[in-house]
Amino acid sequence: MTAGALDATGPRAEGVRWDLSRIVADADAARTLLDETLEACDAFAERYRGRVAELDGPTLAAALDELAAISNALGRVGSYAGLRRAVDVNDDEARDLEAVVEQGMVRASNALRFFELDWIALDDDVAERLADAPEVERDRHHLRSMRRYKPHRLAEPEERMLAERGPAASTAWQNLFEQTVANVRAPYDDGSGTRDHTVDELLAYVHNPKRELRLGALETLYGALEPWTPILAHCYDSLVADRLVLDRLRGYDDPMAARHLDNELDPAEVEAMMVAIERRYGIAQQWFRHKAGLLGLDRLALADQYAPLGGGRPVPYEEARAVVDEALSGFSSEVGGVARAFFDERRVDAEPRPGKRGGAFCASVAQDSEPYVLLNHTDTLRDLMTIAHELGHGMHFVYSSRRQTALSAHAPLALCEVPSTFAELVVFDRMLERESDPATRAALVRGELESGFATVFRQTMMARYEQDAYALRADGKALTPDRLAEVWIARNEQYYGDSIELPEGYRFGWSYIPHFINTRFYTYAYAFAHLASLVLYALYRDQGEAFVEPYVDFLGMGGAAAPGAQLQAFGIDLTDPGTWDRGLDEMERLLSLALEG
Ligand SMILES: [Zn+2]
Repeated sequence: MTAGALDATGPRAEGVRWDLSRIVADADAARTLLDETLEACDAFAERYRGRVAELDGPTLAAALDELAAISNALGRVGSYAGLRRAVDVNDDEARDLEAVVEQGMVRASNALRFFELDWIALDDDVAERLADAPEVERDRHHLRSMRRYKPHRLAEPEERMLAERGPAASTAWQNLFEQTVANVRAPYDDGSGTRDHTVDELLAYVHNPKRELRLGALETLYGALEPWTPILAHCYDSLVADRLVLDRLRGYDDPMAARHLDNELDPAEVEAMMVAIERRYGIAQQWFRHKAGLLGLDRLALADQYAPLGGGRPVPYEEARAVVDEALSGFSSEVGGVARAFFDERRVDAEPRPGKRGGAFCASVAQDSEPYVLLNHTDTLRDLMTIAHELGHGMHFVYSSRRQTALSAHAPLALCEVPSTFAELVVFDRMLERESDPATRAALVRGELESGFATVFRQTMMARYEQDAYALRADGKALTPDRLAEVWIARNEQYYGDSIELPEGYRFGWSYIPHFINTRFYTYAYAFAHLASLVLYALYRDQGEAFVEPYVDFLGMGGAAAPGAQLQAFGIDLTDPGTWDRGLDEMERLLSLALEG
């Protein structure tokens, strides 16, 4: 498609707003749908409570159909309210609706919880026979995988007690952590006068072109965090201790075991991946040494890690859209068509404006509805890659919704970022082919390389730090700021080697990171997905056209199989450590491009 065929927009995607009426007509219609759905939940509970063991293939299929319809309706209502609020925080009608939806969601999950519990409680042979029934074929993996928690479930009264004490035993520490970090303020002068800065505002200076601002911001940040580190460490210590106790009660033999089970990944495969990644930390170190030279420094300081090296030219929204369209259509005309529908059907909101939330995301909405994309396009190269990224998620949602039920459409966490990263790589390659401006090409390559480091290397380093912290606590050592600092610095030194000088204050670099507090060992899934995308992209480069159909089938799998089985379809074997080396070789290839440019 040529740029002339696109709707004309002003700078910064002016006027590009979405139309949510495809989800539900308006707030009244959403309320009506919610009421009807809550009645359907009660009717469902009435019909099936205590009777799951009596179901046969056809009646189980009917029950799953009802659950799918409920899930779709709740998805529509919840998304409609959430998406309205995302573009206008002051939308009172949407805020009221959101509050009603929240209550409704609690009511619905209370009414429906029995079904999963009863299903898990079934004897293995009964459940296996039911899951094998031809009528439930499309939800077979979902039915089986729900039962993976069975060996770790306690008796009903124990489970209830644990659930009741959850708010005091863990949520309270998480809230204290969040509030503490959110309230950290430090005066900082960026040249326009001293004003108070939050943690995020100070961190943002690492992208500032002025070195003294970068260095000063991190020093200020760590100085501001230091007095809070005893409290932040105590929050972490309490959560880790609690999790270790629960692991023992539930029979998890390793602090990572529960996460691996959630991710449907084999512990040995994840460990093999992390070892393979650690072996190649040198790729990043080589780049950091080169980057020091480009900045005229002997050695990079931590604050220089993401320093801009001269950005590319501006990329207006229409051009960005055309590039993404061309690249995805070049991959597959059908995939390109699915991407184009987001724009044609006004399922994209790209215009930054007051009251709209920042960043970008793709909302799946529901299996019987189309996904929507939120962007804040400011005409940068990074914004172009963000369009590709979010449309990549969009492709995943569209194809899995077409081919799976509402209960089986959601991909496992470890695969969620694969289609988004893959779409970025497709667009990245196309951009490199067509872009003649050397500065823009260089910025593109460096951007891709550094985002790979942040995702693959740094997230792996963080998972190792978590392992160290859990090992300390399991050994009876309380997680004090000093002990956490020691393992944090050791893991960082392993990653950066001597290529980056870590400032004294970086001892507190662990203290504000929410993943450790909210979802342990979440970070390795980022590394997994990024590397898997690089492996897939290498296959695409080798196989060309022949790769497209299996890839579209993969998009359509959603949650119908575990990650290992989904990747197996491409001949990718997670038990073979060489698999990860293929992805890391791709990073090395990017590094050589960056060293040239
Ligand atoms: Zn994403």
